[in-house]
Amino acid sequence: MSLRSEIYRGKRVGVLGLGKSGRAAVRLLAHCGAQIRGFDESASAHASDGAHGEEVFRAAADPLDALRGLDLLVTSPGLDPRTPLFQAALASGVPIIGEIELAWSVSDLPVVGITGTNGKSTTTELTAAALSACGVRTVAAGNIGVPYSDAILDHAELDLVTLEISSFQVEHIRSFRPRVAAWLNFAPDHLDRYASQEEYRDAKLHIFDHQTPDDFAVVNAADDFVCVRSRRSTFSARCAADFTLADGLLLHHGQPILRQDETQLPGPHNAENMLACLAIVAALGNPLERAAGALRAYAPLRHRCEFIRERNGVRYVNDSKATNLDSMEKAILAQPGGIVLIAGGKNKGIDYTPLRELVAQRVHHVVLIGELSEHIEQVWGSAVPCLHAARSFARAIELAAEQARPGDTVLLSPGTSSFDMFRDYADRGDQFRDLVQRLA
Ligand code: ADP
Repeated sequence: MSLRSEIYRGKRVGVLGLGKSGRAAVRLLAHCGAQIRGFDESASAHASDGAHGEEVFRAAADPLDALRGLDLLVTSPGLDPRTPLFQAALASGVPIIGEIELAWSVSDLPVVGITGTNGKSTTTELTAAALSACGVRTVAAGNIGVPYSDAILDHAELDLVTLEISSFQVEHIRSFRPRVAAWLNFAPDHLDRYASQEEYRDAKLHIFDHQTPDDFAVVNAADDFVCVRSRRSTFSARCAADFTLADGLLLHHGQPILRQDETQLPGPHNAENMLACLAIVAALGNPLERAAGALRAYAPLRHRCEFIRERNGVRYVNDSKATNLDSMEKAILAQPGGIVLIAGGKNKGIDYTPLRELVAQRVHHVVLIGELSEHIEQVWGSAVPCLHAARSFARAIELAAEQARPGDTVLLSPGTSSFDMFRDYADRGDQFRDLVQRLA
């Protein structure tokens, strides 16, 4: 693989946001020989600031002077467009692209791009594993942890990049054209960043913008929206599609590929992640039997319906990554038996009313934590007993353990983000695992 680094040689490029992907963009631009200025709203310097010869502006009162005269700006997905820094960037009139577009513009590797409200990380990992099993040299990158820019710099011998893509990452693309673009699902989320659900959906749909009839779109058949120019392959665990689930079997046009219970990925939502993965593998012309072997061997990521232990006949499951109602719904549907649900967290504008009926049917006690406790009690309280643990997570787990009966599952599936009480979802899930392990 070679990089088309000459397009940025000597160019004056600003990087907006110096988090993980911003720093990766700086590194890639330095490799390309650009003159770089980095901008970040936070005043705290990072250890690698300046390591690639870039000038760094942190919490500059008025960055406009430093922005003017640049040839290009590369923005990070984590930078909210409403921030003064981004507004100054807009006011500067300098063209803005995202980190995804930057890496795409210098790389000649084909890309599989995977988006959706939920299941992106799981499906991205599954796809990278399945393609590897078919002999395709690939890595899982993008939103999943290794920025795309780092992946193309650090892996010289790839055939293809398997990218997890968030809506924020495709907001600023110009030519990014995945060979296969997968749309897993769509559900309400991110109202703390977008003015409406339509805006969030429209942002995600950019993934298909530059595809041609030579490319593939792998789409959930339940989403009847997508008008795509590329060849379409569909999947669904619920309705007719090219890749489907019936009687526990994953099928391609009615032909069995594997049984779901041979994998460690339970529930219809995980069946859809696997079906999407198989559709991607098939679109690229690879054998499904080999992919099936990789799916059987795949060990799920932590914090996604992660089984922790059984105690007194009660299963404890950590689904801390459930940061919206759709993922909470899927976690509830994936559990056998009765459920004691630990829910709540940061108020990011989510209304829990839509899950009231399902909770009434499947959950016999709810233990509430964090900022949203009052709201959830208001909308679910008449359907199911709600107990309050306020800001004590240890107390929440004790209360849940007290209410659980043999055959039940104590399910941590908060339905919102964690930042009111925890560093992030992983911290919340790790604390849950530790506290559950320590139950006598
Ligand atoms: P993402 O990267 O999109 O956040 P993850 O694979 O990390 O997706 O899973 C996030 C949450 O969504 C977890 O709670 C997981 O159990 C749930 N989940 C996984 N796949 C799906 C799916 N296809 N539909 C709905 N929820 C899902």
